[in-house]
Amino acid sequence: MDLCFSPPLQPHVPIAGDAEAFPVHRIYCVGRNYEEHAREMGASGREEPFFFCKPADAVVCGGSGPVIVPYPDRTQDLQHEVELVVAIGAAGTNVAVDRAARLVWGYSVGIDLTRRDLQAQAKKLGRPWDVAKGFERSAPIGAIRPAAEVGVLGQRRIWLEVNGQLRQDGRLSQMIWNVEETIAQLSGFFELAAGDLIFTGTPAGVGRLVPGDRIEAGIEGIGTMQLQLAPR
Ligand code: MN
Repeated sequence: MDLCFSPPLQPHVPIAGDAEAFPVHRIYCVGRNYEEHAREMGASGREEPFFFCKPADAVVCGGSGPVIVPYPDRTQDLQHEVELVVAIGAAGTNVAVDRAARLVWGYSVGIDLTRRDLQAQAKKLGRPWDVAKGFERSAPIGAIRPAAEVGVLGQRRIWLEVNGQLRQDGRLSQMIWNVEETIAQLSGFFELAAGDLIFTGTPAGVGRLVPGDRIEAGIEGIGTMQLQLAPR
């Protein structure tokens, strides 16, 4: 089949220690998956997981240096949410919790960039979150590490610093719904496929970013990433 114009390059994420890259199919995100963060957002801290999506081409990755992202338009309150990202390597629908691990290809650290003012407005008006969550370059992500190299997630530390100051500091064990439970739930709503990324929610301490901020984030034994917000 001839296409009427050249399609854009497949969005992809580097793989740690490998020349190959991971092709991105879809980006799913989990809302309020850490109790303390749910409370800081005004929720009870105990509810069923809920999901939203970002477009696949919202991923942005650094080479050797930091990912450079311009401060987005139409917001006065861009915020950081550091998250464990699960890279899916096999298809699955209605996956049972005890079979979910076999879908996991690897893990990375990512930042769910959020226009918090637009999200607050959308919540109030009962409108979709796309303009708050799904804008260009809203999913900066570090290199993916294969699951076999990572091993058991356990109580690994997940953290984020802005200009050298610690803002978020949690443990993966604080997730309300763990990776297997998240895959089980999500695969009831969507047909998961190789190439999907799941942003699994953020620990407490989300906050405002300003143009020029330097952000560093990491998960123990998985990796780190640097992000630089360009001046407006
Ligand atoms: Mn998030």
